[in-house]
This record gives sequence, C-alpha cells and structure tokens, in this order.
Amino acid sequence: LKRITTQKQIILDFLRKSKIHPDADQVFLEVRKKLPRISKATVYRILDTFVDEKLIVAISGKKTRFDGNKIPHQHFLCTNCGLIVDIFDDETEKYLNKKKEIIKEGKAENFNLTFYGKCKKCRKKIIKK
Ligand SMILES: [Zn+2]
Ligand SMILES: [Zn+2]
Repeated sequence: LKRITTQKQIILDFLRKSKIHPDADQVFLEVRKKLPRISKATVYRILDTFVDEKLIVAISGKKTRFDGNKIPHQHFLCTNCGLIVDIFDDETEKYLNKKKEIIKEGKAENFNLTFYGKCKKCRKKIIKK
C-alpha cells in the first residue's frame, strides 16, 4: 500500500511543478526516472484517478494533456504545435463562476475553458510561407 502511495505522490509532485501540460507518455517518461519499475498502464490509471478526484485537470486535444496547477486558470492550445499556455484572467474567472451558479441544467461544480488556435510562433511561420 505504501508503495502505491509513493508512486502517486511522485506523479502528483511532477504535475504540480510541471509547466508544459504533459500528455500521459511524457508523465510516464519523467516519473520513470524516479520509479524505474513503474508500468505505463499504472501511470495511465493513476492519471485517470487524479482527474476523477479533481486533483488535476485533463485538457482535450489530439492527445489528452494534464495540468496539476492548483491556481484556477484557463488555457490556450495551439492546434499546430501542441503548445499550451496558461491564461490567468480574473474577469473570465469571475464571469464563468457567476454562470456556474445560474446554469439551468444542473449544478455545475467546475469548469474549464480552452481556446484553440495557432500560437504566435506558428502564426509567424504561416505568414512567411
Ligand atoms: Zn504553435
Ligand atoms: Zn495550465
């Protein structure tokens, strides 16, 4: 039991610190440095559990990406290179929090907003062509 706890803790620590919003394979490659015997399936399972427990956020795209940053924020995802940028915008947070309270279909407990488009670097490349 303690072993499992340690695995989970190492994965969570990595996600709390990481700024790159890694996909499951990147998490696996990183934590394997500290847990050489961990399997991919275990990492995937732990990530799913964390999402269910709302310890981390899953961001959908070509590949699901994970975010362990506890400060509420939204994302911009580049559909060309996969870059994910954090967006800390108080106005958006306030607006969405208000909407969450008045939603008619049920009681929303959470939200996450992702803007999809092309990042600055990719836009420059497209203009040059
Ligand atoms: Zn890009
Ligand atoms: Zn983020």
